[in-house]
Amino acid sequence: MQGRIIRGIGGFYYVLSGTTLWTCRARGLFRRNGTRPLVGDYVTISVTDEEKKEANVVAVSPRTNALVRPEVANADQAMVFFALKSPDMDTVLLDRFLVTMAWQNLPVIICFNKKDISDPSEAAYWKKLYEDCGYTVRLLSAREGTGVDDVRELLQGKTTVAAGPSGAGKSTFANCMQQELHMETGEISAKLRRGKNTTRRAELLMIGPDSFLCDTPGFTALDLPAMEPEELQGCFPEFAPYEKMCRFTQCSHISEPDCGVKQAVEEGRIGRERYSHYCLFYDEVREMKKRRY
Ligand code: ZN
Repeated sequence: MQGRIIRGIGGFYYVLSGTTLWTCRARGLFRRNGTRPLVGDYVTISVTDEEKKEANVVAVSPRTNALVRPEVANADQAMVFFALKSPDMDTVLLDRFLVTMAWQNLPVIICFNKKDISDPSEAAYWKKLYEDCGYTVRLLSAREGTGVDDVRELLQGKTTVAAGPSGAGKSTFANCMQQELHMETGEISAKLRRGKNTTRRAELLMIGPDSFLCDTPGFTALDLPAMEPEELQGCFPEFAPYEKMCRFTQCSHISEPDCGVKQAVEEGRIGRERYSHYCLFYDEVREMKKRRY
């Protein structure tokens, strides 16, 4: 039988197969080939107790990816929630998140929340800024429920990692998705709630057919991943068209002469603030690298 691990805790894996949730062990699997199943894994299970819905995970299908933070396999995209106001927009933190996801090759949907209390022209400014960088951007009010359907549409048939700073409204959005889950599959969520544990681990919330949301704890700070400084520019998608105009092929776009990226910043084709964050992160990544050796 095929299924998907939607939660793992204390050596148990909860595997969803159709509309049935199986409580599984995977001991033999680890002994045989050292595979540790992850939340998000597509697995083959063999039933040990039909009545109690217990089974063993006997095989893990090849993964398309395996994220470290959160620890989840086969994610299709990330969705980040930032408040337009209250708390004020923190673009350093947003850009940190975007870099972290770009480095893991995960497309990002940016949700700017609390549009009900923000200035419309300001909201439009942020939307355009990030759309021009190549991101999918949505404005919404999770509290009022406006713009939520538009976001939901982007989640259909996908496994989405939801993240955002505390207070940005991500949990309001996730709760609203979860309420629907409770209505559709009350029995499953009741079973999951029984096992609620204080430690926060990745888990998948089913929000529709083949649609899952992986909620993550709110963050207030974010370390950049341990990357090479040269990898950073690839995490700023809007730089790409201008890199070929740099005189040096290994241009870091920091201090080299005849730099296409810096030229584009001067001409207003790349956001000045985004570029300043690039410089900030570049130093940070370089410092982190020094400390690693
Ligand atoms: Zn350059």
